Amino acid sequence: MGGVTILRIRGRVLIGPDETRGDVWVVGGRITFERPTAARDVVTLDGWVLPGLVDAHSHVGLGLAGAVDDKTAEEQAVADRDAGALLLRDAGSPTDTRWTDARDDLPPIVRAGRHIARTRRYIKDFAEEVEPGELAGAVRREARRGDGWVKLVGDWIDRERGDLTSCWPADAVRAAIAAAHREGARVTAHCFAEDALRDLAEAGIDCVEHATGLTEDTIPLFAERGVAIVPTLVNIGTFPGLAAQGEARYPRWAAHMRRLHARRYDTVRAAHDAGVPLYTGTDGGSSLPHGLIGSEVAELVTAGIPVDDALAAATWSARRWLGRPGLTEGAPADLVVYAADPRRDIGVLGHPSRVVLRGRVVARTPRAPGAASRPSRPLSPPFE
Ligand SMILES: [Zn+2]
Repeated sequence: MGGVTILRIRGRVLIGPDETRGDVWVVGGRITFERPTAARDVVTLDGWVLPGLVDAHSHVGLGLAGAVDDKTAEEQAVADRDAGALLLRDAGSPTDTRWTDARDDLPPIVRAGRHIARTRRYIKDFAEEVEPGELAGAVRREARRGDGWVKLVGDWIDRERGDLTSCWPADAVRAAIAAAHREGARVTAHCFAEDALRDLAEAGIDCVEHATGLTEDTIPLFAERGVAIVPTLVNIGTFPGLAAQGEARYPRWAAHMRRLHARRYDTVRAAHDAGVPLYTGTDGGSSLPHGLIGSEVAELVTAGIPVDDALAAATWSARRWLGRPGLTEGAPADLVVYAADPRRDIGVLGHPSRVVLRGRVVARTPRAPGAASRPSRPLSPPFE
């Protein structure tokens, strides 16, 4: 696959919502809309083209037991890449994956450092665990390790209460978010339930992961403050299985998880309709395998998000949000080719016919059968 210097992408290139172009050329790894003068040794790809998809909630370097070795981290990044996810926002990883930056066959990663959790209030060995007085200091440390993001665990099961509760007092999150912003980093937080959301939004948080606990009380606040959400619906789909495992010891928690799951589509659609910015993320790397970006976009459509908006959440708007270009003149040629129009058949996103990263074809169909639909492994349950 090496050696190709000029690609001609012939078909419909979706460069923005409602904006398509005809031929696009790839020269020296970059996009150009001008036909090269010496167009020899041209490889032509036909189809429908999107900018490289964004998986805004991925965990390269994280496995069920915490940190993984570099070979496993590489396999995770390759699985995302081959599914068409060519820009990853890593939502917390205990592994130093900086070495991937030197690999032009792996997708760029926007890192959030390591998760920051309250002591014994998250999955064992995933996070840096601190108490509220240490939170701002931990945020400063992780901000310096990341690429402009910090990841908090905002709520988790409280074993004494037997339910999801907020992990942090309001004054601690205010100080922590202010500290991150002074470092030039944005902050996101894992939140399943309702009660952490108001404090986080009022403290100026930039994004919330999962956000299943949004209600008619907090959705307007998120919309007004421009707090983004990454719903990770493919992960929320695992809630009933988790609830069944935890039922005996934590019946209140299990019932809560089931309620959040039951209203997940209504929650996401209501947030979208109210103007809350939302982006696609899969949570690949801990509870779920990598490579599920196509399924996540399809889930947004199932939730009732208009297909153009679901595509924007995975492409144009998500790239703008992360400060990376789409298919513009001179941009890195990171694009995905499909055999059908994804606006008419969202299912095609699970089966890219070609994946082009930095101007090189890195993956082509057929992919390993079922690679995007492997059943999820259960999350190491919080009740163990
Ligand atoms: Zn995650």
